[in-house]
Amino acid sequence: MDKKAYHKALLREWDLNYLWHPFTQMKEWWEWGPLFIERGEGNYLIDTEGNRYLDGVSSLWANVHGHGKAKIVDAIVAQAKELCHSTLLGLSHPPAASLSKALIEIAPGHLNWVFYSECGAASVEIALKMSYQYWKNQGEDRRIFVCLEEGYHGDTIGGVSLGGIELFHEIFRPLLFETMRLPSPYLFWKRGGHPWERAHESLLEIYEERIKSRAEEICAFIVEPLVQGAGGILPFPPNVLKGIRELCDKYNILMIADEVATGFGRTGTMFACQQESVGPDLLCLGKGITGGYLPLAATLTTDKVFNAFLGDYEELKTFYHGHTYTGNPVACAAALANLEVFQEERTVESLRPKIDTITMWLEDFRGHPKVGDIRQKGMMAGIELMEDPKGGRPYPLSKRVGHRVCMEIRKHGVILRNLGDTVVIMPPLSITLEEIDLLFSALKKAINQLEG
Ligand SMILES: *Cc1c(COP(=O)(O)O)cnc(C)c1O
Repeated sequence: MDKKAYHKALLREWDLNYLWHPFTQMKEWWEWGPLFIERGEGNYLIDTEGNRYLDGVSSLWANVHGHGKAKIVDAIVAQAKELCHSTLLGLSHPPAASLSKALIEIAPGHLNWVFYSECGAASVEIALKMSYQYWKNQGEDRRIFVCLEEGYHGDTIGGVSLGGIELFHEIFRPLLFETMRLPSPYLFWKRGGHPWERAHESLLEIYEERIKSRAEEICAFIVEPLVQGAGGILPFPPNVLKGIRELCDKYNILMIADEVATGFGRTGTMFACQQESVGPDLLCLGKGITGGYLPLAATLTTDKVFNAFLGDYEELKTFYHGHTYTGNPVACAAALANLEVFQEERTVESLRPKIDTITMWLEDFRGHPKVGDIRQKGMMAGIELMEDPKGGRPYPLSKRVGHRVCMEIRKHGVILRNLGDTVVIMPPLSITLEEIDLLFSALKKAINQLEG
């Protein structure tokens, strides 16, 4: 064994012996063995053997312009040489201030203030605490958060409290705070037999009934705008998002838009809220904010919310929240470069043919004997695998069909990750039309491998 092969064998040992992977049944992990990604190049990931894989889920919904994008890498290197970290508690630094200005310029609605953190879950925790204290600072103790079935807002206890995915969230239920959980827009439509264009009417009536009953106790309504991501890529019927905004106005409730997944072009516009001209009171950003290069998140809010925190120090209206690495300068520099690339390359404007090509390919999967529901919103898509789609019978959990298809497709040079039996397709916005073809042809082969 040469030295390089020996080192690779060691890495494998160390992974199998010491590394506990997130969202992973480790017993299964040991069976499959680790795939080590060593490099990224454009829309491809390259393993330690030199094999290339199309990054079909944007390195967990984060990558935007591909890997190794010179503009972003150079910005990171330049900032790292200047200053890798200093705090925003009591000090400031140029990248954080510049990025705040840049985010406010592109944000939907009337958002004026940016509060940084390092992950989407933290941006949600901040939105929760901010909205709770917003009311508290005005002498009101509002404790109920409205959220949606199949919602996902991160894995910290606050985020999990708001989450509505049984598989991830049920076990922690005893530790969580009370919420008002309303039906998922997509599932409501699916179950209800309403026409797609009109589904919002009856859904919003149900929402209103529930909200009305406890309006004075409700602090905020949190929603993933236009598509519930981790719930399985569940798009909203039209006008649901707008209707939620109207309900929040009518009953004097704050609206939190969690655009951690949908932000930065993923739904076909810079932010999903823009498609229904919705301005949230709080906006959570993460994932694509740095182009998928470094961990950074942000919670944006309005003057209305911000002003409730102003006062003399002894009034105790200060927002006592912050993280050690809040607004890290290198991450902020990456985010600034990411936004510049969006502008220079007109990234969002260039998405139409890509979205249409994805739609065309998805059509090709309709009626496949192992495919049930197919869903898409912009550059986000999900294909649900089913044992018997006509009879509506899913695969048993033990078959791990979604997972197996994602393992199989690696042999065809594509990385995908499933959510249960839904195969998620969420490539970098920089994917080419040819690469979309490659991805879906590979997926077809992988799905065809599923035996009867
Ligand atoms: C991924 C995600 C989060 C959590 O972000 P992390 O960076 O993983 O903590 C929150 N909300 C939504 C909608 C997400 O998709």
